[in-house]
Amino acid sequence: MFGMRRLLIASALFLFTATLHAQCADVAAITGQLDGARMKQTVEKLVSFGTRHTLSDTTSPTRGIGAARKWIFDEMTRIAAASGGRMTVAYQSSMQKSVRTKNEPVEMINVVATIRGTTDPDRIYIATGHYDSINSDNSNATLDAPGADDDASGVAVILELARVLSQHPLEATVMLAAVQGEEQGLLGSRGLAEEAVAKKWNVEGMITNDIVGGAVGGEGDVDNHTVRIFSANPKGAGEGSARHWARFVRDGARVWLPHVNARLIYRLDRFGRGGDHTPFFEKGFPAIRFSEANEDYKHEHQTVRVENGVQYGDLPQFVSPDYMRVVASVNAVALVTAACAPAAPRNVKASGAVTNDTTLSWDMGTDADLAGYEIVVRETTSDDWEKVIPAGKVSRYTLKDFTIDNVFMGVRAIDRDGNRSPVRTPEERLP
Ligand SMILES: [Zn+2]
Repeated sequence: MFGMRRLLIASALFLFTATLHAQCADVAAITGQLDGARMKQTVEKLVSFGTRHTLSDTTSPTRGIGAARKWIFDEMTRIAAASGGRMTVAYQSSMQKSVRTKNEPVEMINVVATIRGTTDPDRIYIATGHYDSINSDNSNATLDAPGADDDASGVAVILELARVLSQHPLEATVMLAAVQGEEQGLLGSRGLAEEAVAKKWNVEGMITNDIVGGAVGGEGDVDNHTVRIFSANPKGAGEGSARHWARFVRDGARVWLPHVNARLIYRLDRFGRGGDHTPFFEKGFPAIRFSEANEDYKHEHQTVRVENGVQYGDLPQFVSPDYMRVVASVNAVALVTAACAPAAPRNVKASGAVTNDTTLSWDMGTDADLAGYEIVVRETTSDDWEKVIPAGKVSRYTLKDFTIDNVFMGVRAIDRDGNRSPVRTPEERLP
């Protein structure tokens, strides 16, 4: 009798958890495998190459950006060899120039690992970190530029995601890239974004991890649980896909990482600054930036030195294994939940001007396990979808006596296991 009741409680609990947390992969198990100490070792290894300036030595086996790149490629290759054929690694290169290459074309070589999706391989989610570094003099390619936080930390996150995610089948494709030339003007990422356009990649979400290792800010304030998530809307339009992607990432963290504060910031980047998501965002992809909660400018882009007893320089001792684990976890939840969910609805349109009814329409998705769609509604001043209306497996839905003027409305796809895609809203251009 007692045993029976326990069994009933257990199966009720199981059903409850399964409904809340249905996924194609075990998200909790995946985040549990992420290893902060390993990421710290990656940071220390990358710092050991002395400088990773984009224009530094490419022939030495021990110093300069060439040696660092080869080490990253070899690490990714080892991970791929243990992935049961799921992951492959390749160099991706392009010629790029900027004022910081003296307007001379320089080859930008990224290391790109691809975990091919099982049922929807053409849908791609990308996470990157940049492996180049600089010191106080952005043209000095010989003096040490440890770049531990900026951005060996991002590369460490990428490598760790490759190690863990490549062990799990995912429905859509995940690309993990270590890119070059960020400090010369986002050059390697620009090359990757150009390739995405040229090859017509369907990139449904992109994250750059840049300055993601420090848990102590410049004023000594400690925050080891907040990740800043920067996202923008295109100019003159309504809600863009980057903002929806950011909110999807935040919502995933709320479910799977309740101890983490995924802080949305509605800016393309920090004030007056840029990052590797920008070339993707400018080409219309949903692209966002992750950064630590509080930066310490004594440890970014600084030549290593002690001044008035204060240590300057982007050194490994200021990078926290536990904090990198938090950042890697937010990435993993985003990539896995997105790659397990159906594709976001395409071609979402609304008709609702000068009428009391609102009709949303979209293209019917082709996902094998597609169950249907949900309409989501929120106040224009709110940050959370407040109403969810099940629409069924249709490509058009009318809300009677409901005016679109006063709210934001969108639609998302849902599969048979309850996995939900990011939201898409109808384009809303100013007349
Ligand atoms: Zn950076």
